[in-house]
Amino acid sequence: MSSIFLVSACLVGFNCKYNGNNNYCEPLVELFKSGMVVPICPEQLGGLPTPREPSKIKGGTGLDVLDGSAQVVTVNTSSNVTENFLRGAREALMAAELLNPRACIMKEKSPSCGVERIYRFESDDLISGMGVTSALLFKKGYKIVSSENLERIYKYLEEIG
Ligand code: SF4
Repeated sequence: MSSIFLVSACLVGFNCKYNGNNNYCEPLVELFKSGMVVPICPEQLGGLPTPREPSKIKGGTGLDVLDGSAQVVTVNTSSNVTENFLRGAREALMAAELLNPRACIMKEKSPSCGVERIYRFESDDLISGMGVTSALLFKKGYKIVSSENLERIYKYLEEIG
């Protein structure tokens, strides 16, 4: 296993979020500065523009999207962007296969990167489940860590000194 971490790019300051902003997370930026982070944005890798319309998973979770029983749909215009999300997940998997990361640290609640919770399609409530990319990486045996698991992230920082 390498000492590299695969990290949702918005967490280290890239403005790749649907609204053109980021989800800057100081301890992860510190990890990035150490040279041990490879940032990835599955939605951009899947061919979606930035800014873009926000999307949610309809009919299940990321695991259900992978098995074809749920879809990813944009919130305002109901466009089906499932294929973009699957393509982005496959690209992230390719990076993981090349790098064999120590862990993938993923942005919680995102329909791509969520680890423990994602937004329900019909409301702004949260449900248990992973986003599409996290689900694929998890299924392939990679260690997935939520961006909200700050205890774990600080432990990684301590370990690298
Ligand atoms: Fe990209 Fe994932 Fe961040 Fe969304 S949560 S902007 S898909 S890296």
